[in-house]
Amino acid sequence: MNVSGHQFLEDVLRQLDEAAEILELDDSIREFLRAPKRTVILSIPVRMDDGSIKVFTGYRVQHNNARGPFKGGIRYHPSVDLDEVTALAILMTWKTAVVDIPFGGAKGGVKCNPKEMSRSELERLTRRYTAALFDVIGPHIDIPAPDVYTDEQIMAWIMDTYSQLKGEPTPEVVTGKPISVGGSECRKEATAYGVSVCVREAAREYGLELKGASIAIQGYGNVGFNAAKILHDWGAKIVAVSDSKGGIINRDGLNPLKVMEHKKRTGSVINYEDAENIANEELLTLDIDFLIPAAIEGQITGKNADKIRAKVIVEGANGPTTPEADRILQERDVKVVPDILANAGGVTVSYFEWVQNVQKFRWERDEILMRLDKRMVKSFKDTLEYSKRYETGMRMGALLLAVKRVAEAVESLGIWP
Ligand code: NAD
Repeated sequence: MNVSGHQFLEDVLRQLDEAAEILELDDSIREFLRAPKRTVILSIPVRMDDGSIKVFTGYRVQHNNARGPFKGGIRYHPSVDLDEVTALAILMTWKTAVVDIPFGGAKGGVKCNPKEMSRSELERLTRRYTAALFDVIGPHIDIPAPDVYTDEQIMAWIMDTYSQLKGEPTPEVVTGKPISVGGSECRKEATAYGVSVCVREAAREYGLELKGASIAIQGYGNVGFNAAKILHDWGAKIVAVSDSKGGIINRDGLNPLKVMEHKKRTGSVINYEDAENIANEELLTLDIDFLIPAAIEGQITGKNADKIRAKVIVEGANGPTTPEADRILQERDVKVVPDILANAGGVTVSYFEWVQNVQKFRWERDEILMRLDKRMVKSFKDTLEYSKRYETGMRMGALLLAVKRVAEAVESLGIWP
């Protein structure tokens, strides 16, 4: 992670203060929204494969549930700390509010290096962490999901541990599960689909033609690759893509599926036969219609923001733009569709997964994509409306929309007793 957890949390709280100022929120509501409702810090003893016991530190921060049960991913990473998890929990509250799903915001994390752990060590860690959280999670309390270095297998272990302790199968306690145990169709490409809808809607709003529009994508994983595939199908031209090893460019357009075949064969997109190699930094500053950062945070910074030539940035990744870069982009009138809107397709389909589990009924692919598309279009329009009403960029527009929705819910419920 590029920014420290502490700096990240400060930035998130400062943004909230700015939004509260613009919305003229009451000081007491602002204070309420700054503080997470519950923070759990755990010591998680795990028997390692060599027989030794290692104690890991785990967190679950439940920020706000005024609009519905807490919702948010679980991250396994060496850099996890309380400030980072808290900042991410607050951002989840805004994200669920922007797309108007009836959930609040939470985040969990365990400070560990999953790359150095065996599958059985990860299973024991996950089950012990879930058992320790048993009283504070649940289908109508707090519903975890995958995040960095946690996947559908880990979600299946969470579901199984919770169900064993509860004494009944409870798939709706967690989302992002394998389809065999109640996972939803389209969950894997949901974030990329939402990103693609934002590109389509931004093209409409800013007078660009999606057919033939030039697009560069940083990161060729779940979000980057699937967005390339969908946007290519919709007629856009994917001119450049990259991964952690470097990037490639072909001004006539790349074939996303062939690039993925090459990546699977060689381990990277670089040296693809039908393109030239470029540095990651160069990809970010290409003269194109859309730039989609879909890799890691802190990529567009004070150092390169004045060189960005894309007309619109659609943030697939979480936090790819630093606050300093954001100011520069706004001064230069580069349009930015912010992460809490652009990548909210994932949490939206997570919500659909939960609804299907609660109803004990499965929806088909077409129905899920139709509902996701509709919700992303509505959220895009709502955000745009707020950014116009308050004469700000879309990032602040999305935050204003979210904070207003959460503040209204808090005010309606009141403070008890
Ligand atoms: P992933 O691990 O599948 O893919 C990440 C890709 O980024 C890989 O191709 C990797 O090689 C590349 N990468 C890493 N460092 C890079 C660098 N410095 N320059 C260029 N490429 C680099 O991850 P993902 O699930 O696609 O997530 C990508 C981003 O989207 C993350 O910020 C994540 O938090 C965010 N996000 C993902 C989802 C989801 O549903 N997967 C939902 C919301 C947000």
